[in-house]
Amino acid sequence: MRVELLTVGDELLLGDTVNGNAAWLGRRLADHGAEVTRSVVVGDDEDVIVEAVTAALGRADAVITTGGLGPTSDDLTRDALAAAAGVPLVRDREAEKRLRERAAAAGHEIRESALRMADVPEGAGVLRNSAGSAPGLRVELPGGVAYALPGVPFEMRTIMDEVVLPELAGPPEVARRTLRTAGLWESVLAERLAEVEAMDGVRLAYLPQPAEVRVRVSVAGTDVWDRLVGVEKRIRELLGSAVYGVEDESLDRVVHRLLTQRSATVAAAESLTGGLIGAELTAMPGSSTTFAGGVVAYATELKRDLLDVPADLLAEHGAVHPDVAAAMAAGVRDRLGATYGVAVTGVAGPEAQDGRPVGTVYIGVAGPGDLRIVTRPKLPVPGPGAETRDVIRRMTVVHALDQLRRALLGLGADAGAEFAQEDREESG
Ligand code: ATP
Ligand code: MG
Repeated sequence: MRVELLTVGDELLLGDTVNGNAAWLGRRLADHGAEVTRSVVVGDDEDVIVEAVTAALGRADAVITTGGLGPTSDDLTRDALAAAAGVPLVRDREAEKRLRERAAAAGHEIRESALRMADVPEGAGVLRNSAGSAPGLRVELPGGVAYALPGVPFEMRTIMDEVVLPELAGPPEVARRTLRTAGLWESVLAERLAEVEAMDGVRLAYLPQPAEVRVRVSVAGTDVWDRLVGVEKRIRELLGSAVYGVEDESLDRVVHRLLTQRSATVAAAESLTGGLIGAELTAMPGSSTTFAGGVVAYATELKRDLLDVPADLLAEHGAVHPDVAAAMAAGVRDRLGATYGVAVTGVAGPEAQDGRPVGTVYIGVAGPGDLRIVTRPKLPVPGPGAETRDVIRRMTVVHALDQLRRALLGLGADAGAEFAQEDREESG
């Protein structure tokens, strides 16, 4: 089943309204195994709508429109569908009765102009709108079927789920799951997952974000949910500890959960991130049980005065050095009385600092007892422009939270190291 989408409204063209309907419909139809082959936006213009509907049905089996079914003079989808079908608009008595009843239930008399919403192209199916006034329409045209749905998202979704989807498609044929990873480049992930990608009916989408990649797994065909479980298991074997969560489980949530399970707290010492790590660790309600607090020690002497970083260390190496990250982490842990300390120091740019290039970042994690981890994450070679600074800061936050997660789980600092180990075993 090939479906095209036609979203109608001047406000969409002008950018006043974000086209959420098209996004939702695309996802919904894909989930139900229908192939969305094109999505078009047009303004409130009858001729343009007629042309777009006709063209869509010249290519696809069905077209779904949203918008332009209301009572006002700029609502033209009804007229356009009648014109496309070459039939007049006729008043549907059943739809009229429903409009009058809805108005009466709300305690007012319906305006004559609003009864326009009960006018339908002769011979069209009227799709009951249990969430609002304007009913949807089903119009059989020479090339296929046109479904017209209201623009109001809630009404559109209701009619789609209650009427259109059961008509157009069967039960879901695609099962999806998103796995969230940190610490591995997209290209490394893709290489590791080549065998999964080759599986029948399995599709992987890589959704990169600064320093993390979401891997969306889709399994199509039969028994999709059972098969998805097997595919996910295999992916986890292949990616090891780089997978930190699923769906909307963000790193700060994972860290919060791990700290809670250990009755532990964390404190943050930040330089180049200027408080972003603290912001992340306090994003969740309830974070006060696991986040003690943070120190933004931007100036070098504050690293000494507030975090007890040895003065000679700073004098010898400057602020951007692995030992400084380590000392900051231990310092903030002890000064704030937390179980863990996490610290970052580095060069966000755009200028180099103390002879160290932009993107040089060290992360320290101090645990209960001895220091656990100091890492230098591999940040991409930055290009020119103001974005560099943002990206480096954002990536540093993610790496820092991920290193904290890895320390909490007793893992080594480098997610890739597991594979290196495996590969050695395989070849040896
Ligand atoms: P109504 O019966 O309420 O008049 P309608 O079918 O005439 O609905 P429109 O007038 O085109 O629909 O849109 C109504 C509202 O729905 C718009 O103000 C807008 O907020 C929202 N809307 C319309 N189209 C979209 C879309 N494609 N994506 C998201 N929201 C939309
Ligand atoms: Mg309207």
